[in-house]
Formats: sequence, C-alpha cells, structure tokens
Amino acid sequence: MRFHVLTLFPEMIEQGCRTSILGRAADAGLITVSATNIRDFSENKHGHVDDYPYGGGAGMVMQPGPIDRAYQSIKQNIPGKARVIYVTPQGTVFHQRMAEELAKEEDLIFLCGHYEGVDERILEKLVTDYVSIGDYVLTGGELPAMVMIDAIARLVPGVLSNQVSAEFESFHDNLLEYPQYTRPEEYEGRRVPEVLLSGHHANIEQWRREQSLTRTLHWRPDLLEKAELTKKDREYLAKQTDRK
Ligand code: SAM
Repeated sequence: MRFHVLTLFPEMIEQGCRTSILGRAADAGLITVSATNIRDFSENKHGHVDDYPYGGGAGMVMQPGPIDRAYQSIKQNIPGKARVIYVTPQGTVFHQRMAEELAKEEDLIFLCGHYEGVDERILEKLVTDYVSIGDYVLTGGELPAMVMIDAIARLVPGVLSNQVSAEFESFHDNLLEYPQYTRPEEYEGRRVPEVLLSGHHANIEQWRREQSLTRTLHWRPDLLEKAELTKKDREYLAKQTDRK
C-alpha cells in the first residue's frame, strides 16, 4: 500500500513513519510513505505558499496553485483513481471502521493544512474525503496524517507479525479489548487473574469476553449500542447494570 503526503513539513512525516512497525513494513516493501513538499511547487521567488485571507481576518491561508502542482506531480505516478484525504478538524471523525475501509486502497493521498487552512477551491477540486482526528485544533495536518497512516498501515496484511492481534483489538467489534498481563505472575502483591494461568481455553475466552463487556460498559457505553452482542452477552451486561 502506498501513502502519499502533501505537506509543508516532509521531514515530520519521513521521521515519524521511519521507526518501529511502520519502518519495518516499509523495509519489507509492504508499504511506502512518501512526503511531497508543497513549497517546492511555489512559483513565488521567496517560496511563499500562503497569503492573506480575502475578507480579512487572522492568519494566512494556503494558496491553491502550489497544492495543485504538488498533487499533479504525485498523481502522474499513480495508476487509476486515488482518494485524496484532507485532514481537517471539520471532517468526519476518524475511527477503526474507516481505517479498515481505507486499508483496502492501493494508494492514499493526504493533504496536510497549516496556518488558518487551505483555499476552498483546491479542496473542491481535489478532495474526496474530509477527516478529523478529534474535536480539537492542531497547528498542522502532519500529526493527523501520521495517526491515520499508522492506524491504516497496521491493517495491511503482513505488517503486524501476528495478524490475529488486529482482529481482536479494541473497536474492531465495537468493544474495548480485555486487560492484558505478562510475566511476572505477581507484581507488588498483585496477581495475574487465576483463570489466565489455568490453561483452560474456554474459560479464558469467557473471562476475556466478560472483561471486554465490563470495560466497554464502564468506559465507552456508547459503543455498546453498535456492538454485536449475543444473548449471553446481554444477560451478563444486565447483571452488571443491576449491580451498579
Ligand atoms: N482554521 C481551521 C478551522 O477552524 O477549521 C483550522 C486550521 S488548523 C490551525 C491547521 C491545519 O491543521 C488544518 O488545515 C488541518 O489540516 C490540521 N488540523 C488541525 N486540527 C486537526 C484535527 N483535529 N484533525 C485533522 N486535521 C487537523
């Protein structure tokens, strides 16, 4: 899978995506992350890519021309259509299902805004998806693009050494994941739950499911409305709610 990022700060993207699991995935040829510097496409002798907003107001707005030329330079190497994601606090809030859907694409283009944002006309021309990473405002789109690339790339087959781990994680089925434990068996007087040491797989599965349900009920009850619950799950949750 190929990620293309249009940005004023390519070094942020390159450094951020070069380490750990993403770095190894790139070395293995499973993903590529390339950052294109919008400033390289400025036609201004000072390399300016922004200007004052028409109508007045604070801050600067990124001009359409440099973004358009930067986009054309990468698009010519992409066969077929590619979705263009403008990361913006005004977009649909990113979630795991969206990551799963986007992971099916061959190429994804991200446009990172800066300053007060981007001239609306280039957004109308190029953008297919408007995505926010949450209801807060950051200084630029590089961190949101990296958040999305990380979440999407780890769903690309082969990127995680154990593919199963992505399937049973939080949000995959609208439930939070159960708590995890590793060695030692006892830490400062706190023991690993006995059931996990029992080797009894059915009991372990049941315990994990119940923990998952309990966590979601307490921390993210909104998710339960969308979760696929069995009759047994519902009975368990009803008991938990009675106990509250
Ligand atoms: N004036 C814009 C507004 O009110 O919608 C905010 C501009 S913000 C300071 C600069 C850039 O950061 C945006 O163009 C966008 O690319 C990025 N950005 C900031 N917060 C974001 C968020 N929560 N999700 C995605 N992108 C964000």
